[in-house]
Amino acid sequence: MNTVDIADKKFELLIENDNINKRIRLIGIQLNVDYEGRCPIFIGVLNGSFLFMADLLKEMDIPCEVAFVRVSSYKGTASSGTIKETLGLPENLANRDIILVEDIVDTGFTLKHILEKVQLQNPASVRVCTLLYKPEAIQVPVKELEYIGFEIPNEFVVGYGLDYDGLGRNLTDIYRAVPE
Ligand code: 5GP
Repeated sequence: MNTVDIADKKFELLIENDNINKRIRLIGIQLNVDYEGRCPIFIGVLNGSFLFMADLLKEMDIPCEVAFVRVSSYKGTASSGTIKETLGLPENLANRDIILVEDIVDTGFTLKHILEKVQLQNPASVRVCTLLYKPEAIQVPVKELEYIGFEIPNEFVVGYGLDYDGLGRNLTDIYRAVPE
């Protein structure tokens, strides 16, 4: 399938599932080496990270734990224009090795917010693993961003967990919006 229609938009194939899986296997190998002898806790950012987290975890040979957080955003009066609230962050992160798992890093604001909350609990280490990264869109540099699946252009993408208007998360490949 090279193009799909979701609601009122047309999308074209960007990354095939085969390539996603190959990349995840390589990231898994790297994580197994980097965290050998430790027991990290993977924290996925919902909703978009659920498929990436599932496939990544299957590659892990070291002992590890899994949790998820959800971030809600709404327009507010803060200067950034957006206030985010972190829901469900585990409360026992002191001295733990944390790996935050994201579907996509766009401006970096979501990560910045979650990282601030995580740091309050004095973890031993924090690193970020994201499947997709849009280097042209980043507005706040994230020094913890260590593992990146694919760098993509600054375009809207769907599939493999990512949605357009709630739809398209079930697509196994990743698609980008076709300009109208
Ligand atoms: P940031 O805070 O880095 O700007 O945005 C991160 C969140 O915005 C992601 O977790 C995701 O929910 C959403 N997002 C950013 N870019 C895209 C995109 O191209 N497609 C989809 N479906 N969501 C995106």
